[in-house]
Amino acid sequence: MDLISSLQDKLDEKKIVIMDGGTGAEVSSRGVTIYPQLSWSANANITHPQLVQDIHQDYILAGSEIIITNTFSTSRATLAKDGLSEETAAINKQSVKLAMDARKNCKAEETVVIAGSISAFEPKAHPEITPSYEEALEDYREQVQILAEEGVDLIVLEMFSRTTDLKAAIAAAEETDLPIWVGLSCESHDGQIYLGLVGRHGGETISDAVAVSFSPNVKAFFIMHSPPEVTAEALQELKGYTALPIGAYAHGGGIRGEGQSLTDADPQKYLEYAREWVECGATIIGGCCGTTPEHIKVLTTSNIRHANG
Ligand SMILES: [Zn+2]
Repeated sequence: MDLISSLQDKLDEKKIVIMDGGTGAEVSSRGVTIYPQLSWSANANITHPQLVQDIHQDYILAGSEIIITNTFSTSRATLAKDGLSEETAAINKQSVKLAMDARKNCKAEETVVIAGSISAFEPKAHPEITPSYEEALEDYREQVQILAEEGVDLIVLEMFSRTTDLKAAIAAAEETDLPIWVGLSCESHDGQIYLGLVGRHGGETISDAVAVSFSPNVKAFFIMHSPPEVTAEALQELKGYTALPIGAYAHGGGIRGEGQSLTDADPQKYLEYAREWVECGATIIGGCCGTTPEHIKVLTTSNIRHANG
């Protein structure tokens, strides 16, 4: 059975699947400068390939069943902010190679799924500013085609907080025929959950996001890159809108400053949050910024996978 079919079987049986933790933030905590307001950890694929590959390997060794390529900020529009647009093809190709080499080195080619990440369109963390659908579509199409050609197993959309670029990303990813996982970032404001990050929501909701994600290729929804405390509440809401598998990967800490590493979060505390998300119906669990291979190891060596029997 191929990797995607066996993953889908696990999800259909409501088994708990563990993803990796933060990659870009881990690049930073291993001593390489990243650029939160610009292309994040994109250039590390070229400047520090061994380090990126080691991070993937450490997650596989910690028990991750899915690893995500270091392509959160590698679309042409994002790379252009750092003058790297000419490197778009090279950086994206290299990122998939590093994930594949890591999987091969760990002899995990028949067990570990590689998810190609694409993220919210520019300006990324500003859901109150709506980009052009056509520009977003063109940008995503280029990136997602490279990721698919290089051999990722599925596409994961990360940190979406507006329906305009979400629709564009799904339309672009649909052209590859790969499964699409939709990751939404949420915040709580006046007792309501909105798409967005703290204080920067654009008024759209989880319901709005699910409503525009009607492609048959969409196979799962996530609440990700959101504060752990908001994640459970958002999952409760999300499961009211979709019968597809849902998952969660939250922050493990906060970003101290531009180019700086992240504050540590206790892996045991993260496990407690993860248990809560499983109780809310999440079957795919991972970690976002500030989580490390140690966090994933605590998850995979706990009894959380047996939570659903
Ligand atoms: Zn994150």
